[in-house]
Amino acid sequence: MAGSLWHGFADMGAVSADGPFVVTRGAGSRIWDAEGNEYLDATAGLWFTNVGHGRTEIADAVAAQLGRLAHYSGFGDLTSDVTDALADRLAQLAPVPGSKIFFTSGGSDSVDSAAKLARRYWTEMGKPGKTLLVGRTKAYHGMHVAGTALAGIPANHEGYGELMPDAESVEWDDAKSLLGLIERVGADRVAAFFCEPIIGAGGIYLPPAGYLAEVRQICRDHDVLFIADEVVTGFGRIGGDSWFASSRFDLAPDMMTTAKGLTSGYVPMGAVFIAPRIAKPFFAGGVWWRHGYTYGGHAGAAAAAMANLDIIEREGLLAEATRLESELAEALGPLADLDAVAEVRTGLGAVSAVQLSDAARAPQAIGALRRHGVSARAAGAGALQISPAFVMTSDEVGELANRIGAALS
Ligand code: PLP
Repeated sequence: MAGSLWHGFADMGAVSADGPFVVTRGAGSRIWDAEGNEYLDATAGLWFTNVGHGRTEIADAVAAQLGRLAHYSGFGDLTSDVTDALADRLAQLAPVPGSKIFFTSGGSDSVDSAAKLARRYWTEMGKPGKTLLVGRTKAYHGMHVAGTALAGIPANHEGYGELMPDAESVEWDDAKSLLGLIERVGADRVAAFFCEPIIGAGGIYLPPAGYLAEVRQICRDHDVLFIADEVVTGFGRIGGDSWFASSRFDLAPDMMTTAKGLTSGYVPMGAVFIAPRIAKPFFAGGVWWRHGYTYGGHAGAAAAAMANLDIIEREGLLAEATRLESELAEALGPLADLDAVAEVRTGLGAVSAVQLSDAARAPQAIGALRRHGVSARAAGAGALQISPAFVMTSDEVGELANRIGAALS
């Protein structure tokens, strides 16, 4: 019996009436639907297929690992050899040297882990009053309770009552708004500030010039933990030949939340990077962090991450993301002249937004894009998300812009 699946973020009445869009195959920057139609994948799935679709090398690495040991446990003194090795490899890439790596099952796990650890850290430091967690308008931090509360997308908060006490929001583009909040409530109340270097699912907004450095300094000045949510920007998507926005912009985050590009989405996995000063009290002996996930550091996922990192390094894909930064800007920029387009936000990383003039027409735009061979989606209020795999060629970028232009004309 068809029609049993409940999709995420969907009007299921409409999906049931119109039928789902079923994807059956992918290769590089392209996907195919159940009828065999081919599409350019404008979004790299949900921002994650950084190395492109159809990498049998990752599949083979996972199969070999599952045959040896699928997973065991990451609690107490237990781990697996591949998980342990992956943590050491990630620590080498970390924006803060000597970082510790806490594995999760995805981005929402990473965010909620960081939220809990921020409060737990201050308790450990003898400042249990520092419990306030600060997010931003437009922000997206996943769908667990803390992440939903910290995000700045009002529709996602509706209908649940109070999600989490001690969560506050400041203006996404105004560092003074953060400073004002800290001064108003007192630094002795504020645990951490969560910051996506580029606002992603909330509509793809690039940080104003100097913003990231300014909020980082405010957090330093007031002893507020700075938590970079790099679930989207991490593992190369930020461009600048950098693994992370935190490296590119020298943010030295106290914690950094990641997922997606860690495995290019081949298998679910996330990781929190924890700077040494935050980890220190928990590594001193006699202290437990009573937190962990059954599948955190899953051995099969760790094997996928290893193979994914091998591909990124061997094929120089950080440089390819940097190429896409300028190519997307050049190819998509002219779309701003179309009546249907209000503006194009582009020029930082392998991420752009084609902002529709009428956000209410996003479903029609997505339909038109599909008829022209582009799989895209709308983020925020009518922003078409363009975040391709790093292997999208220069010709394909041109083809993507042409197809979008034809669809929106
Ligand atoms: N944080 C950010 C910035 C994200 O964009 C996302 C997902 O898009 C998440 C957290 C949540 O990740 P996941 O959907 O893997 O739980």
